[in-house]
Amino acid sequence: MSSSQESSGSVTTIDALLQETRTFPPSAAFAAQANVRDASIYQVAHDDPEGFWASAANRLDWFQRWERVLEWDAPWAKWFVGGKLNASYNCVDRHIKTARRNKAAIIWEGEPGDTRVLTYRDLYREVNRFAAVLLDLGVRKGDRVAFYMPMIPELAIGLLACARIGAPHTVIFGGFSAESLRDRINDSQAKLCVTADGGWRRGGVVPLKDTTDAAVAQTPSIEHVLVIQRVGSDVRQVQMQEGRDVWYHEALGRITQKYVEPEQLDSEHPLYIMYTSGTTGKPKGQLHTTGGYLVGTSLTHEWIFDLKEDDVYWCTADIGWVTGHSYIVYGPLANGASVVMYEGAPDFPDKDRFWDLVEKYGITILYTAPTSIRTFMRWGDQYPAMHDLSSLRLMGTVGEPINPEAWIWYHNNIGHGNCPIVDTWWQTETGEIMITPLPGIIATKPGSATRPFPGIEADILDEAGNSVPNNVGGNLVIKRPWPAMSRTIWGDPDRYVATYWSKYPGVYLTGDGARRDDDGYFWLLGRVDDVVNVSGHRLGTMEVESALVSHPAVAEAAVIGASDPITGQAIVAFVTPRSGQQPNDALTAELKEHVVQSIGALARPKRIYYTAELPKTRSAKIMRRLLRDIAEGRVLGDTTTLLDPNVVAQIKEQYAASEG
Ligand code: ATP
Ligand code: MG
Repeated sequence: MSSSQESSGSVTTIDALLQETRTFPPSAAFAAQANVRDASIYQVAHDDPEGFWASAANRLDWFQRWERVLEWDAPWAKWFVGGKLNASYNCVDRHIKTARRNKAAIIWEGEPGDTRVLTYRDLYREVNRFAAVLLDLGVRKGDRVAFYMPMIPELAIGLLACARIGAPHTVIFGGFSAESLRDRINDSQAKLCVTADGGWRRGGVVPLKDTTDAAVAQTPSIEHVLVIQRVGSDVRQVQMQEGRDVWYHEALGRITQKYVEPEQLDSEHPLYIMYTSGTTGKPKGQLHTTGGYLVGTSLTHEWIFDLKEDDVYWCTADIGWVTGHSYIVYGPLANGASVVMYEGAPDFPDKDRFWDLVEKYGITILYTAPTSIRTFMRWGDQYPAMHDLSSLRLMGTVGEPINPEAWIWYHNNIGHGNCPIVDTWWQTETGEIMITPLPGIIATKPGSATRPFPGIEADILDEAGNSVPNNVGGNLVIKRPWPAMSRTIWGDPDRYVATYWSKYPGVYLTGDGARRDDDGYFWLLGRVDDVVNVSGHRLGTMEVESALVSHPAVAEAAVIGASDPITGQAIVAFVTPRSGQQPNDALTAELKEHVVQSIGALARPKRIYYTAELPKTRSAKIMRRLLRDIAEGRVLGDTTTLLDPNVVAQIKEQYAASEG
């Protein structure tokens, strides 16, 4: 066990932590065909990052070439200054001039099993028609458009239509409440809200239009609500408010324009505002712009996912999150990929739906989240085993640290040992993937996101701003600007500076803890706020959680530090057992001992609570700050981004009972 690091903010790492110590190099066959085969690219990009990104920018079509690659007046960045381009032109128009015109752009499946395939030519036609409707409704360059939508092709089409006319979009995930929708519309001052009469989820209809009605009753900036008919009036009737609400299909009937010229936009023209998940507090509206964002997302997509012309690529995220923006819409479509999009739940009609989709469409690249993988583990190996998954050749994860247990399960049960796994670390703020393997040249280690992408200068700092030695935790930072970075927090530049750029001047603070091992691999330790301090030893919650999840009875775990009169903080664990496991005192004792065996005595949980579900954001990240609030008997912080408020109420009750 390593010694403790006392300075506040840094995280001790305990070497005995990981039971899984194997490394997984790419197979010779994979390496031989990989898009990136030469590891010297890291050095090349390091020595001349601007030259590196400039050569990447040649992958796009520009109406006018940039004059300067980067203008950096920390923390304000401008990329490809003087350049003019259009994101929708790059994602659609340029492909229809090539053999890609009849290639599938979007392969969509609705939850009930209905399907649509749009070729690039189809997508081109639809984006133009949608753009014409936007213009008809009075939307102009610079106006904001809010989307509150199910995962249907019109969502991607609508975003590209906005990009075409230079109207920044802001997508609010369809699982959010009317209040959350209202607040984000008011923050962005959107003029139009695009929604649907409903979307399918677990066999039921999500009443998106009703929720929109409740929200827009309190959003003075909204002039019109554009409604896509998804479920149909025989399934669900919606109220249309005269003068304000417009059916999309009726609007299409009125327009005569079949082509809308793509605006020649400045490289720094705002493309969209995306609100963070709200795991640590009130969501922040991140502003992403056009040129740098498209360079960063398309390059990372091609290299990290090893994209080939005939791949069938599926990112299971919702477009309501940044992952969907960067790696369903902009990155993949700029690359001319075939993108699978699925509307509904992974357990409808049964728990094998994802694997059914992989088999049905011959999906070759799969990108999903650790939280989903842990759910699949809990459901059991029999579901993936029902399907032929042999089309898969590469898999990715994003959203949370992946515990080695889940990594190995994914590797064995989904990848059948044949697929490199790219564990990609990034944030809404970063826009593009920042720390990740390049699958043809980097041997992976389960639980590590491995190395910063070429051109990204990541470091781990102590409180004084010095790089920490290997195997010592600290604050993960980025020391140089990168093209897809958020330019500001919409309407609140002071908060942007205070949150990200004040602790270390000129250096981007990620808010995550990390350590580097002797091979220079990065290990994400969770949020710095989540660190637990036991008798002066600082532990990343991720480490204790990973130890718990490596026990066969445990499906998921969340760990927090609760005030303790003797040790400062004591470890309290909230555990979701795997199906069929009955929690009892014997299991509690066993789990405590298991953590001690894996990490050491100081990590022994003082209390373990069992819960069928953990509190999660709607993007399925564990919200430890609410568990901390419960444990400290505080009023709960912002709960608006919570998936299921009942979960917290139940845990609170249980906690109170055990305390009393
Ligand atoms: P908020 O900033 O409002 O609290 P959030 O941080 O959950 O919300 P996102 O931008 O969606 O919002 O999530 C980014 C965070 O997700 C990262 O800072 C990190 O904590 C976590 N994360 C994402 N990918 C990984 C990964 N591969 N490994 C470890 N952590 C990851
Ligand atoms: Mg964050």
